[in-house]
Amino acid sequence: MADIKITQTTKTRFDNVDWSNLGFGKFFGDHVFVSDYENGEWSEGEIMPYGEVLFEPGMCTLHYGQTIFEGLKAFRTVDNGINIFRPNMNAKRLNHSCARVCIPEFSEFKFLDAIHDLVKLDQKWVPNVKGQSLYIRPVVFGTGNFLGVYKSETYKMIIMTSPVGSYYEGGLNPLKILVSHDFVRAVRGGLGTAKTAANYAASLLATEKAKAAGFHQVLWLDGVNMENIDEVGAMNIMFVIGDELITPPLSQGTILAGVTRDTVIKLAEEMGLRIAERGIKVKEVFEAHQVGLLKEVFGTGTAAVISPIGLLHYQGNSIIINNNEIGAYTQKFYDTIVAIQSGEIEDKYNWNFSISL
Ligand SMILES: *Cc1c(COP(=O)(O)O)cnc(C)c1O
Repeated sequence: MADIKITQTTKTRFDNVDWSNLGFGKFFGDHVFVSDYENGEWSEGEIMPYGEVLFEPGMCTLHYGQTIFEGLKAFRTVDNGINIFRPNMNAKRLNHSCARVCIPEFSEFKFLDAIHDLVKLDQKWVPNVKGQSLYIRPVVFGTGNFLGVYKSETYKMIIMTSPVGSYYEGGLNPLKILVSHDFVRAVRGGLGTAKTAANYAASLLATEKAKAAGFHQVLWLDGVNMENIDEVGAMNIMFVIGDELITPPLSQGTILAGVTRDTVIKLAEEMGLRIAERGIKVKEVFEAHQVGLLKEVFGTGTAAVISPIGLLHYQGNSIIINNNEIGAYTQKFYDTIVAIQSGEIEDKYNWNFSISL
């Protein structure tokens, strides 16, 4: 392992953090990893103090959005170590996203190395309160200065960190979800499988409107027929219907291949659920509810891990799921994943990447 050059900050940001009220993505760690792409290759990269980045008004990413990001977490374990959950999946997905928007790929090995060294340096930023974690946010963007729709010749990767609270600080409240029939997030052949900025810009208006109408998030339908379910907000979605766990397939090319989605699918087998990765129409969900077969609905994603869904509203009709209470499987997936991440139970699948402290 090559040693990454480190320039340490002389002024820690640690004391500015409101540790009893972390929220999500409000506070940033002391250091960042930065690597630049120039003349056809990524630099070795270095770790330096978190701070401003200069850019020109002509920086192409501002105009044309050639940028992608990732999201993963470091957890304090019960024996005071640090685990990062399945970062190799994020390394692969980062390159999948890069390829989709013509950003040159970044070595998976160097990516893991950078995250390891960054979290090791800022280890005091990994909270030791259960449910809290250090969120790791890599972002890659074109840095060329030009107007014109073509790919940049230069790029920057920055990996930053943010201590985050549990999504469930105020108790685990099931979400109220509006099924959107006015807006779509992605279409086949589009950007849906990439974690790229445009997808999130495209989602803002629908989400704002849903919030104004009293919902927490939007459930996205497929962009062609507006029938099949894609995702919920920036999470994958799962339905327990009868004794089957149903989730939309990756094969349509419109949803993100979530690490949490994959984790839940693997754990579901152990819990005795049958798994179906298949197209599921909003109509089928409402019909299953009518005949009493719709047991649980939840979203999956790194930020919240598992988000129970208590209400779905579609074109004037609402259904309440599981009495607006968190379901048994939903709770079990949440508890199991959190217990694996914190080292409380055996990590059978070797999902944890431990930091050598
Ligand atoms: C990040 C993200 C997810 C969840 O992926 P995880 O790897 O589980 O965090 C799902 N859908 C979208 C659109 C996302 O951006």
